[in-house]
Amino acid sequence: MSNGSSFKGSSDTSASTPVPMLDVNRQNAPLLEEIEAAMAQVARSGAFVHGPACREFEAAMADYCGTQHAVGCASGSDALLLALMVLGIESGDEVIIPSFTFFATASAVSRLGAKPVFADILPDTFNLDPTDVARKITPATKAIMPVHLFGQCAEMAALAEIAHAAGDIPIVEDAAQAIGAEYQGRRAGSLGTLGCFSFYPTKNLGGFGDGGMLTTDDGALAAKLRQLRDHGQHPRYHHAMVGVNSRLDTLQAAVLNVKLGHLNRWATGRQRNAARYESEFARLELREQLRVPTVADECKSVWNQYTVRLPAERRNAFQQHLAERQIGAAIYYPIPLHLQECFADLGYEQGSLPVTELAAKEVLSLPIFAELATLEQDRVIQATSEFCGVEYSASSAHRAA
Ligand SMILES: *Cc1c(COP(=O)(O)O)cnc(C)c1O
Repeated sequence: MSNGSSFKGSSDTSASTPVPMLDVNRQNAPLLEEIEAAMAQVARSGAFVHGPACREFEAAMADYCGTQHAVGCASGSDALLLALMVLGIESGDEVIIPSFTFFATASAVSRLGAKPVFADILPDTFNLDPTDVARKITPATKAIMPVHLFGQCAEMAALAEIAHAAGDIPIVEDAAQAIGAEYQGRRAGSLGTLGCFSFYPTKNLGGFGDGGMLTTDDGALAAKLRQLRDHGQHPRYHHAMVGVNSRLDTLQAAVLNVKLGHLNRWATGRQRNAARYESEFARLELREQLRVPTVADECKSVWNQYTVRLPAERRNAFQQHLAERQIGAAIYYPIPLHLQECFADLGYEQGSLPVTELAAKEVLSLPIFAELATLEQDRVIQATSEFCGVEYSASSAHRAA
């Protein structure tokens, strides 16, 4: 997702204007005065590193996620790295992760000299298949790192059982896309040993740059994380361990403090949009041609992405069809990590993870952000129905509105 472009578009909804995949400005604009005041306060205070806004945001995040502790850091990628560092993962260790995820999940493992062991996913949720995870446990397995992909939690109960049976292997949640998501009534970040979050601008809670956070109920791990993110020093100039420099900026924390109070409302907007796609695709009988995403019974998704599936030979044509109508859509993720050049020496090949490989060929994510206008969503639905060769009619509910 980190492609360096800007994530903005126009909110004009006439047929010729683009429908953006995501427009962060629509979310930030109504809050700018409040955010700018918070930033100005940091500027005047001069407390740019680990200032009061950082402590405030850490406390708010722990409260929001339902954990005892939250520790800020520089990015979601660093949160994953720090999580594995604090667990003592090192050369020779294995960490089981999905291949159908953003690169950072795997690079955290590799950077510590450990071995990423890729497990396959479930076709309906795109999340780790516990059965394949169980198959891939070895005596060298030192952590399991499920990703709560696209805003929905992985099958944590089954994974916890497997981890427990294998000698209480720690579970690190990559919750970068799932802040606020629930599993059996508990929030992402409170379900494993450690939770990792990203505040990259395209995430459900996006800052004005990079930022990250770890959550845990384990006070000893939290204390060690505070040390590791600060070059391992404690007290000052005393280094009992080698850490990294990974801070959550006070400026970012100030922005995020303002935005966190609106997160549930934005999640509700995404859920409403997902429900509308679901009911419209059903009403127009497009579901023969389009596999819509499913939410598991024990889950509440926060819809970081709304990802449909089409037969591989139709997927690119569908994206092209939307692009011609200036409708944004994106493929997350086109190349599974086990097939990336940098992991060639791990010995995976085409066919190693069939469910993952098929998903990479079939997925397309549609605009789902909370501020997507009804008329814009209509255009996405209309273009989709056109692509499927089904005559589009506005729903009666919509006409009445
Ligand atoms: C975004 C993301 C990350 C990395 O977060 P950054 O803040 O960009 O470093 C890690 N894992 C997943 C699944 C992500 O989507």
